[in-house]
Amino acid sequence: MKPSKNIIIDVFTDPISLKRHRHTKSGHVYNPSMNDMKDFYLMAKPFVPKKPLEGSLKMTFYFVFKRPKKHYRSGKYSDQLKPKSPLIHQVKPDLSNVVKFYEDALGLTKFFYHDDKQISYIKGYKFYGKQGRVKLIIEEISDETLEDVFSEHCCSHSDKEYQPEEKDTNTPESYVCLDCNANLELLGEDVDIQRDEAYEEFGTWIDMEKS
Ligand SMILES: [Zn+2]
Repeated sequence: MKPSKNIIIDVFTDPISLKRHRHTKSGHVYNPSMNDMKDFYLMAKPFVPKKPLEGSLKMTFYFVFKRPKKHYRSGKYSDQLKPKSPLIHQVKPDLSNVVKFYEDALGLTKFFYHDDKQISYIKGYKFYGKQGRVKLIIEEISDETLEDVFSEHCCSHSDKEYQPEEKDTNTPESYVCLDCNANLELLGEDVDIQRDEAYEEFGTWIDMEKS
């Protein structure tokens, strides 16, 4: 397995969401977020890696929105938060639109990674804070990591194969999912069930063992 590489971009600015592409009267499409993207790129430039990341990528987004004045008390206490001011940001813009802005902005430069297609894992958060902040972590992740996620959360392991131990060929006992290749648990109590399933599917070794 290759050592994992990552890039951290950490800039103090209010997070921005993606604006929809527009059509001009003459039919051209333009990106109304372009100037915002260029501004972000200037801020992110010090974090550009020597070489763009390759392979599968995990992106983690931390967005901190500068608190509005109404979160603070007034007068000489205006630097103090009101007791009920939230930490969690639950107003517009939607998290997914903010993620999309930064994903598109980074993808456009090609300096951080080659293509948006590489991103196969996204995590994002949005909060309120004293000042706006955008912190992004881009990590190369191994295919094994993604396969493990699929195996744990997405595969129903409906098509599996039990392999009994074969001493003469040095084959260990195993129970494998044929869809995701995961080694399924071999628990003492389950072995009978696993054997029955194997027996139904693959035949007659139990009878052979008895004889
Ligand atoms: Zn499976």
